[in-house]
Amino acid sequence: MNSTPQGAPARLLVIGADAAGMSAAHQALRTARTLGVELEVVALEASAHTSYSACGIPYVASGEVGEVTRLVARTAEQHRAAGIDLRTGVRVTRLDLASHTVETESLDGTRGTLAFDHVMVATGAAPVTPAWALHDGHLLDGVRHAKTLDDAAAWAAALEPGQRAVVAGGGYIGVEMAEAALRRGLQVTMLTRSRVLSSFSAETTARVAAALRAAGVDLREHSEVRGLAHEDGRVTGVVLDDATVAADHVVLAIGVVPATGFIDDETLLHGRRRALHPDAFGRIDAADQSGIAWSAGDCCEVIAESGHRTFAPLGTHANKAGRQAGENIVRSIAGLEPVARFPGALGTSITRFAHGDVHVEIARTGILDAQLSDAAADLAWDAVFLTTEGTTATGYMPEARPIAVRVGADRTTRRLLSVEIVGGQGAGKRIDTAAAVLHFGGTVDDLAWMDLAYAPPVATAWEIVQIAARRLAERL
Ligand SMILES: Cc1cc2nc3c(=O)[nH]c(=O)nc-3n(C[C@H](O)[C@H](O)[C@H](O)COP(=O)(O)OP(=O)(O)OC[C@H]3O[C@@H](n4cnc5c(N)ncnc54)[C@H](O)[C@@H]3O)c2cc1C
Repeated sequence: MNSTPQGAPARLLVIGADAAGMSAAHQALRTARTLGVELEVVALEASAHTSYSACGIPYVASGEVGEVTRLVARTAEQHRAAGIDLRTGVRVTRLDLASHTVETESLDGTRGTLAFDHVMVATGAAPVTPAWALHDGHLLDGVRHAKTLDDAAAWAAALEPGQRAVVAGGGYIGVEMAEAALRRGLQVTMLTRSRVLSSFSAETTARVAAALRAAGVDLREHSEVRGLAHEDGRVTGVVLDDATVAADHVVLAIGVVPATGFIDDETLLHGRRRALHPDAFGRIDAADQSGIAWSAGDCCEVIAESGHRTFAPLGTHANKAGRQAGENIVRSIAGLEPVARFPGALGTSITRFAHGDVHVEIARTGILDAQLSDAAADLAWDAVFLTTEGTTATGYMPEARPIAVRVGADRTTRRLLSVEIVGGQGAGKRIDTAAAVLHFGGTVDDLAWMDLAYAPPVATAWEIVQIAARRLAERL
């Protein structure tokens, strides 16, 4: 058991008060109550906001969600009422595991030091700001990320019909922000260095590209941004190798990196991203088994289904891994073994692009094509893929929309490797069926023959995901 001064409750310090941090904090309090552990939870948050849905930012920007405050799941006051000593506007500037302290800086510049018995690092990821986006070290007016609630409010206020928006980045945030700008009546250009949604197969992204263009997005794939044109401190265009695209607004959506700059213990940081590598229980100092330092969320690379580490900055993982860590932290204080495991990422993700008559849902799960060659080397997978087209509902129903399902499996073991789905309304969440099969290490035959629901308005008698799996199974 980790010792604390006689009679004093153990202090858990949580750094970062959003998905991972507050999931951990609340679970720690619940477990402490169950186990009868005396626990003090202090949470430090650099911004003014807590437990907000960054995922909802594009929908505030588009106007679909009217008030930015609707993205806040739990306010600072609610956390405090639940027994957490939450301090907003306080940034951790240095973590010192040896002395069990952090150095802090408040918004007004006040510096301080705070001691802890256990620390939960949940600082998320910071959006990438490329050199070309900076002018004299600052972002020009009209250039912004889509990362914080302040960004959401700023985009909602700034986007005016008839203006021109350039979205730099073709990941899912770029796609969602392109939708937002279109819905606000702007002309939208999307610039991507490779393909749009490049973690999907080329075949799937070609379908997405067609949908974006059909909705009016001027999509320019394989476009490298060289700089920004500006006048009086405001952006006026985005400079490419062969052209300048006029812009009133530039959305920076070109990725995120773990926010670990305050950690100077190099042994905790991994790879070019300088990510934390918690084990399945959330420990980042597992080597000496001290159980002092824990982490979850976007500041980490998680363990993927293939066994490799992967950077999958998603709210789904942050919430789950944070909650598991919270339980394990308190078990560790009580002198018990950790039991709550975060099982790792399958690579499941989903997004939607909808404007006017265009509505496309895009989802995937399993090993990325780009990773298959590496993973195959280790595990000798002989991946075979097949795409099957069908409809989301029985053909005679008005709800029926086109859907394409791409299934990948290993020829020898028949193990399901990946599934991608692109299609109209109702297509995307079908991915969860495939994710469930992957989660349990199932085969393409398991996916083809499991008992799934059918009624004409929502499916076909042979569910399309199962037709796709069966056809691939027949070819293996
Ligand atoms: C536009 C957008 C759309 C998204 N859509 C989806 C989606 O549809 N589905 C999905 O699963 N995920 C989505 N995500 C990702 C999801 O929001 C993140 O994965 C999730 O918020 C990660 O939670 P976290 O707690 O790890 O980090 P964060 O939510 O980033 O929280 C970290 C907190 O730590 C604070 N912090 C950072 N450094 C310090 C410091 N040194 N001291 C004190 N505090 C600090 C930050 O201010 C922040 O509040 C989206 C993200 C964005 C930006």
